[in-house]
Amino acid sequence: MDSDCYKLCEKLIPETYVQQGQQAKQVHQNKIRHLLEQKKLPEEGWSDLTIEILLQEFSVMDSNNFPGNCGVGEREARVFSPLVLKRHYNFGHGIGRSGEITAIQPKAAGSSLLMKLANSLALDLIRLCGIPSVKSCFVVPMATGMSMVLSMLTFRQSRPDAKFVIWPRIDQKSCIKSIITAGLTPVVVENILEGDELRTDVQAVRDKVVELGASNVLCIFTTTSCFAPRAPDRLEEIGEICKVNDIPHLINNAYGLQCTKCTHLIQQAARTGRVDVFVQSTDKNFMVPVGGSIIAGFEDKLLEKISKTYPGRASMSPTMDLFITLLSMGSRGYKALVKQRKELYTYLKTSLSQCATRHGQRLLNINQNHISMAMTLAVEGSSATDIGSKLFTRCVSGTRVVAPTGKVSDINGQKFCNFGAHSDVYPCSYLTAAAGIGMTKGDVDTFISRLDKVLSKCKMLPYNSVSKSVVDKQEDISIPQPSSNGETSDEVTLQPSGTVCDDASV
Ligand SMILES: *Cc1c(COP(=O)(O)O)cnc(C)c1O
Repeated sequence: MDSDCYKLCEKLIPETYVQQGQQAKQVHQNKIRHLLEQKKLPEEGWSDLTIEILLQEFSVMDSNNFPGNCGVGEREARVFSPLVLKRHYNFGHGIGRSGEITAIQPKAAGSSLLMKLANSLALDLIRLCGIPSVKSCFVVPMATGMSMVLSMLTFRQSRPDAKFVIWPRIDQKSCIKSIITAGLTPVVVENILEGDELRTDVQAVRDKVVELGASNVLCIFTTTSCFAPRAPDRLEEIGEICKVNDIPHLINNAYGLQCTKCTHLIQQAARTGRVDVFVQSTDKNFMVPVGGSIIAGFEDKLLEKISKTYPGRASMSPTMDLFITLLSMGSRGYKALVKQRKELYTYLKTSLSQCATRHGQRLLNINQNHISMAMTLAVEGSSATDIGSKLFTRCVSGTRVVAPTGKVSDINGQKFCNFGAHSDVYPCSYLTAAAGIGMTKGDVDTFISRLDKVLSKCKMLPYNSVSKSVVDKQEDISIPQPSSNGETSDEVTLQPSGTVCDDASV
């Protein structure tokens, strides 16, 4: 309502009541004005009411909501179901134009505003997370793997003859698939075992650059956040190799924004070496449904080029989910979640370590990975992987059990031994768990108590006997039954070669 409306209201009810109501309305408007002026995360999270007022203000600016609008094009944001329209707050045009995902859509001023602001808030948040020199970013309605494809295809435009992607091994199928889907050839660099931890073989990366020739390398593809016992890659050293050899550096930062260890590595690598693009998942970092990712980097031009590589318009859902969530959290809310996650990581580590000791096991000594951790799982026979299934049946999701059995997996034509372990030669079976953003102390306590129950029913062996029983005698292992969980479980079951059981989803 404008001031004329309020004047008219005063004819209906007492003036003071109207003024009071108008002042209350002004509180929402002030927040909105501040957001439009600053284009930054509000410090205090907004109420749902303020957020809905803004969404409504924006949605009435889109042509599908114009009174008397007459659409005669083939795409007019006509939505059949009122339920669907409601789910989208009356937005229907998506984001972008045919040529570019970050372009303004003339039919949809409100959607375009929302998209610009969401990208701006995301940038502010990335800075807040520990990468102050990030220059540009945008939200893409595709998960991390596809956004990495888009980034590599963009690199390819300026390096059309470079076919190789040097990739320190990370056993996450989306990573290897993204390289193959982009039509490129992965050059796998095996990790080095340092103590319990798997670390980047920097010298092997350097050697590969020489062997292949720098101009034939499309990019070096590194990873921050990953399952233990793998550590984040040595980004500074790789960034240096990229800088010296003029090779683009792509970083998979899937759930790394929530962890200052990962963001610090990116910031340092960009400062001292070369980083072109880093990609992160929206669901893993911001507690929104799966569907989006943020592509970010240190050069406006490159980011613009990537956004222009995206053909056509795109769904606005992941952008709107992030926009609503960031306004609702505010910078204070996000910082509190990050702090809580860090505390729970320590708590989980202590609890898991104690649990391991109770069952004759030990926590693997992994200092560089500040999200995921692992404990040994020395069990009689080949039942290590059954433990994962048992936990899943008890409604524990997200743990992974990895047992090195020597199985060779074929991922899109690329062969991996012990896929899931990040290594051909990891010496023992283990179970991983992660402290991700939004986890609660109750989650940790429940997990540990269920794990205790499961382990007390198993015949556990002393942890140091594990390498002997599994690796030396891998041919003797009886063939386990396929996991009944199939693709719904996050657990990886590595089976001896020749079994019908494929890896569960990674
Ligand atoms: C989640 C994840 C991916 C892939 O993510 P999608 O969003 O499913 O494409 C890639 N790498 C790592 C390390 C991940 O954790």
